[in-house]
This record gives sequence, structure tokens and C-alpha cells, in this order.
Amino acid sequence: MNYRSTRNINQDAVSAAQAIKQGLCNDGGLFMPESIPALTLDDVKALSTKSYAERAAYILSLFLTDYTYEELLADCSEAYSDKRFKGGAAPLATLNDNTSVLELWHGPTSAFKDMALQIMPRLLSRALTKTGEERTAFILVATSGDTGKAALEGYCDVDKVKITVFYPVDGVSRVQKLQMATQKGGNVFVCAVKGNFDDAQNGVKKIFSDKTMAQKLDANGYFLSSANSINWGRLAPQIAYYVSAYCDLVAEGKIALGDKMNVCVPTGNFGNIFAAYIAKRMGLPVNKFVCASNKNNILTTFLNEGTYDRNRDFYTTMSPSMDILISSNLERLLYLLGGSERTAAYMKDLTEKGVYTVDADIKAKLDAEFAGYYADEAECAETIKTTFADGYLCDTHTAVAVCAAKKYQEESGDDTYMVVASTASPYKFAADVYKSIKDDADFADDYEALPCLNELSGVEIPEGLATLLSKEVRFEKVIEADAMPEEVLSELGIQ
Ligand SMILES: *Cc1c(COP(=O)(O)O)cnc(C)c1O
Repeated sequence: MNYRSTRNINQDAVSAAQAIKQGLCNDGGLFMPESIPALTLDDVKALSTKSYAERAAYILSLFLTDYTYEELLADCSEAYSDKRFKGGAAPLATLNDNTSVLELWHGPTSAFKDMALQIMPRLLSRALTKTGEERTAFILVATSGDTGKAALEGYCDVDKVKITVFYPVDGVSRVQKLQMATQKGGNVFVCAVKGNFDDAQNGVKKIFSDKTMAQKLDANGYFLSSANSINWGRLAPQIAYYVSAYCDLVAEGKIALGDKMNVCVPTGNFGNIFAAYIAKRMGLPVNKFVCASNKNNILTTFLNEGTYDRNRDFYTTMSPSMDILISSNLERLLYLLGGSERTAAYMKDLTEKGVYTVDADIKAKLDAEFAGYYADEAECAETIKTTFADGYLCDTHTAVAVCAAKKYQEESGDDTYMVVASTASPYKFAADVYKSIKDDADFADDYEALPCLNELSGVEIPEGLATLLSKEVRFEKVIEADAMPEEVLSELGIQ
């Protein structure tokens, strides 16, 4: 299985190892597999009796054909071990008769990014060997919060890798900041950037496309690689948990083998929901994808109207990991639905004008499989409250999706069994979760809210969060977005 650019199908194909090592295509496009491998109902049935690690290794083996199944199983067994994922890698919780929640946050950082970032560094490590690479991989990450910590945790002290994480100074919670600022490891660096997530992400993109920068790094034994969700090594592992959820629903008797399920995903960069879409293209029985957004509802408008327009206000919400105006992985969906030529044109328009409109045939395909809904701040808070009253404590991002799923179910009348992706532990956003349930509560920040939420809900605080304040703060630097290239060079000791 080889990989090509979403913007030029005629460009030379590369191996999976090369795609993972490189991150982004030379033309700025994203790597996509040449074809989508098939998953039959018999395959699904066979996977039903397997562990999560075995399910993930099997799905990965279909895409990463230059890795052996044994290599992938060894990596998945470590990445998704009971020690790292307490309570299982991707367990389902029942919300009501017709809906289950797929909990993707039992990993070390209590957010769903762990699902990809616990395995990705292992895949990269092998990719360096497989491609005969002698330089050190320099991982550069822009994060709206959860990615940063999950990447730091995943890459920490991995051989022949260094990682730098930039985060928007006003775009992450105190818990997220603390999680990153206290990161251990000799190969990690963390820095805050003035501005919002897009400023940080654009800064990283600029560094990636800067030829002089690449030469300087190369001369000093480094090459740039991304851990952002545009890397295929991030995306591929996410396909597995949708297959796994389907297996579990069948095992629980919620659906019969061959029945369809719906999937609702709280969406930011469009990586998670796109992984679900790939699972469907492989053959997993999925009816609709509900794309859930917060007040930054650019994707809701896009799915309803076919126009993606980033010339709009940006809001800081209580679901900050979804506060995004450019959903990078949407490019992969456009490529699958409309081909590389049109994708390249849309992306050019997006860069130059900040807006594009898809052709009618693409819009029709979107309508057939996707529905876009959003929850504003009041609806998000109300959903946390009512869901808790019904017996389930969810975080702010998950609440956006629970609300969107309900709106979709009510408006469409579609009663297909719904799986809502739950992307963070309620404790990662404890203050907003608590305040949503008890209107009169007031906290200086989300850290203070941890014990209160624990008392209110009885749900255990994840260990990594409970011990945060006792850890040493190692990183406190704040810079202008323009200064990011200099910062990178000085961090690596390059003049
Ligand atoms: C990253 C993140 C999302 C958005 O996922 P995408 O793959 O970027 O769409 C949603 N919720 C949480 C908690 C996240 O960390």
C-alpha cells in the first residue's frame, strides 16, 4: 500500500513508513493511501473475540503494509496496555436505549489524542529504521491543548526524536497548561505563543514550508516531522476504535452483525470523524456521520451549504479543542469525494481567499453521509446538566456531541443506534463541567474544581490530573508567533 498527495495524484507514491516519517507531502497536500482496504463482516466477526491491541494491529496492518503484523501487534500491545489505559482502551458506556458513548480518554493524559499518540511514536521509530534515516526527527506541534500533552507523553524520551510543542497562550485551560509545563523528558520543549490556535498552527506550517529552515536543520542532523493529526500515523490508529466499538455493540447485543450504526463526533481538525469515515469506506456498516461543532460552527455551515468560509469571528469556548477555523483533515474527505485536482483548487482558494465552495456532486455526496449540527455554550452546559441527571458525567466536548446527536435524532427521525465519541475525561475541563451542573459555583480555574467535581459525582479523578500540582513546572516561556522559527533554532542550538 503506497501513499499519495491529496493535491496531486500523479506525484510519486511513497511507502507508509515514508509518509509517517515525512508527515506532510512536498506539495503541501496530505498523504492518502492509494486504495482503501476491505473489511468484511467475517473480518469484523473474527475481530470480536480479540483484544483491543489485536483489533488495532489488524486494522493497521491493512494500511501499513511495510510493517509486519508482529511489529504492529508488539507496538499496539504496549501502547494500549492496561497500565497505560486504565479501564480499557476504548470502552462503551450506555447513555440511553439508542445511544452509547465511546470513551476514548482512558489513556495517560485523559484525552482521546492518546489513542493515536501512544502508538504513533513507535510507528515513527520503526519508520526511521525502515527508511534508513540517520538524522534525528524533530517533531513540531501546534496544539489547542490536548494534542500537546498527548504528543509530549508519547514522544518523551523516544530515541532519535526531539519534540517542541507550541500552544496558544489564551486557548488552553490551566490543567492543560500545567500538564504541558510539567512534562518530563530530556527531548521535550514547550512554549506558549501569543494569539489563538490558528496563529500557532500557521506558524508551524510556515516553518514546515521554509526551505532555508530545512537546510539549516539538515546541516545539523535534524529533519522536521509532524505529530499533528495531519500525519497518517496519527489518523490510521483512530480507524480501529470505530471497528472495535462496532464489535462491542454486537457483543453486547445492542445491534446485530450487519446492522448499521450512526457515529457522532465532536470535531475540530476533522481527524477523528474522518477516521470513522474511512472505517465505513472499508466496509464497516455505518449509516450517518454527525459532525458536532461548538460555537465555532464553520463545519456545520459547510455541511449545510457547501461553502467553507474562514472569514468569520473566532470564539473561545468551554470546548477549546474544537475552537478551530481550519479543519485540516477535511482536505482528505474532499480528495476522496472529488479527486486531487479539485482538492488542490479548493485549498488554493482557502489559502488565498479564505473561502471555497464545493461542486454540486461533492455536496450531494456529503449530504448522503454527513450531517452537521452544533451546540452553543448554553446548550453545551444544559446537556452536561441533563446528562448528569440521567446518570452520566461527560466533559464539555462530549456534551457538544451528545447535544448534536440528539438534535440530529430529533430532526431526522433516524433511530439507527448511535455511538457518540467521548473525547476527554470530565476532569480535564472540571470547572466548566461543575458549573454546568451547579450554576452558582465559582472557581478561580479548572484545577480547583477537581476535588469538587469528585465530591459531586463520585467519579474517580484520573491519576495524572490528581497529582499535577506536586510536579515541577519546567516550561514558562511566552513568545510572539513571528518568533517561532528563531525559537526552534535556538532550542536546537543552531545559529
Ligand atoms: C482534539 C480534540 C477534539 C477534536 O478532534 P479532531 O480529530 O481534531 O476533530 C475533540 N475533543 C477533544 C477533547 C480533543 O482533544
